[in-house]
Amino acid sequence: PGPQLPLDPAKKTLVILGSGWGATSLLKSLDSADYNVVVISPKNFFLFTPLLPSVAVGTLSPRSIIQPTRYITRHKKRTVSVIEAEAKEVDPINQTVTFTDNSEIQGGISSTTIRYDYLVCAVGAEVQTFNIPGVKEHACFMKELADAERMQRVFMDCLESASFPGQSAEEVDRLLHMVVVGGGPTGIELSGELHDFLEDDVKSWYPELAGKVRLTLVEALPSVLPMFSKQLIDYTESTFKESKIEILTKTMVKEIKDKSVVLQMPDKSIKEVPCGMVVWAAGNKPRKITQDLVAKLPEAQKERRGVAVDELLQLKGTNGSIFAIGDCTATSYAPTAQVASQQGAYLGRMFAQLARKEDLRHQLNVLEEAIKIVDQRPATPTNDTNTNTSDTKAEELKELVSAKERIERLLNKTKITPFHYSHQGSLAYIGSEKAIADLPFMNGNFASGGMATYLFWRSAYLSTLFSLRNRTLVATDWLKVKLFGRDVSRD
Ligand code: FAD
Ligand code: NAD
Repeated sequence: PGPQLPLDPAKKTLVILGSGWGATSLLKSLDSADYNVVVISPKNFFLFTPLLPSVAVGTLSPRSIIQPTRYITRHKKRTVSVIEAEAKEVDPINQTVTFTDNSEIQGGISSTTIRYDYLVCAVGAEVQTFNIPGVKEHACFMKELADAERMQRVFMDCLESASFPGQSAEEVDRLLHMVVVGGGPTGIELSGELHDFLEDDVKSWYPELAGKVRLTLVEALPSVLPMFSKQLIDYTESTFKESKIEILTKTMVKEIKDKSVVLQMPDKSIKEVPCGMVVWAAGNKPRKITQDLVAKLPEAQKERRGVAVDELLQLKGTNGSIFAIGDCTATSYAPTAQVASQQGAYLGRMFAQLARKEDLRHQLNVLEEAIKIVDQRPATPTNDTNTNTSDTKAEELKELVSAKERIERLLNKTKITPFHYSHQGSLAYIGSEKAIADLPFMNGNFASGGMATYLFWRSAYLSTLFSLRNRTLVATDWLKVKLFGRDVSRD
């Protein structure tokens, strides 16, 4: 037989689905000595999503913002099994999960089922297309690493094709029109980064084209960034105006075609706008595995946004064996990295408490058994005249009962407290060395530009990166761009 999972039968098996913000934060805080830990994810790395738009414009190299999951697990006390596979089905009754290796190269076996005692669902969400025609076929996304790499290729392709000798003015105009759909933080940050790329590099590498590139941001709601305050929205809109990024609010994308985007304008009229590239940043929806899990528990699970959890992050309608964190849940929290990572860290502490409780319960059972055995033992007289057997039995019982009471007190003290979210503020980079921040400790909002803000934004992200390796790679990439500009070659 080939390699087997190193499962110690004396320990409970904890299966973690995902290797994103929630799962990675859980892995970091988890004491792997307490459980057989198995991580299942189609990506064998963690992706630092806040810097994804920087990869899309070539400021950062893709490798700089990912961290192999094994970098974290290899430092753990006990072996953590990392399996590159996609979880296909969770059976909450029999407590099993079925997963499949979807990669290009597969061995003889590519699908299997394992049993779990505890399961943590941290599978995130996927891009919401609202089934709008042409989105999947013609738009770029900004969710996964491959999306950013693809967008960079498409963007550069538009520039190169527009430079092709004899290209008509009309085609040049179309190829150089970049449309970003969605005025949430992803769309805003990406537009800001695209603007910087145009200003800093495209102007010098493609001087004949630079003035012709247009950026349009389309948002269905009356304003961009609805989660930020009016002051920060105004600041963003005026910055975009100065940067010549056109914002179309109350405008909805109805269809994306090969060479154009169909818009429903605020007056409900339909307009077809030619463009070279469309980036779709219009929000998220639950993954299939999440939807299936909801459907399996119809009594307790009524939300369509994701799985419903209680204050201990246990899935409603299960017996406490399934937990869920991050973007796959339907809670009152925003689907952010900040929430997912705090939930992951909470579960790490919670599983330590759970293991302690189980250990204490086990000790309690042993003591109760021992009390029963001693109690049933007859106080038979011995030949030893110095020993009173009934006194010995009473002594033993007294000791056992006192030990039992001590364990009971400890058990009562080991409380599992509900998850509490502590909001550290929101920060978004809007291009032109400007950032906006909504910081609770500054008693309100904070919007500013200039080198100080830029450095603040950069240092905030540098300090949040998980490892020294990533911090070094990102800082080096920033330095390289400062010295040599972004890499505009298209692979
Ligand atoms: P994810 O981090 O998405 O992780 C999900 C994991 O599950 C992945 O490893 C995936 O491969 C895996 N997976 C998927 N399907 C399966 C399956 N079937 N079986 C097993 N594993 C599976 N939030 C902020 O707070 N601040 C920011 O600045 C910020 N910037 C962002 C920028 C961008 C461009 C994007 C896209 C998002 C940003 N976010 C930000 C949001 C943040 O990334 C998400 O809220 C966060 O990733 C959610 O964490 P998660 O663990 O729930 O999901
Ligand atoms: P989002 O859901 O916040 O925004 C999507 C926007 O697209 C919405 O405003 C929606 O009205 C618009 N939209 C949807 N369909 C449309 C259509 N057909 N035409 C035009 N507009 C349309 O999505 P997001 O920006 O990807 O953010 C997802 C989550 O990640 C949020 O919780 C966000 O806070 C978080 N995030 C945070 C940061 C940060 O803090 N810097 C950065 C990126 C993402």
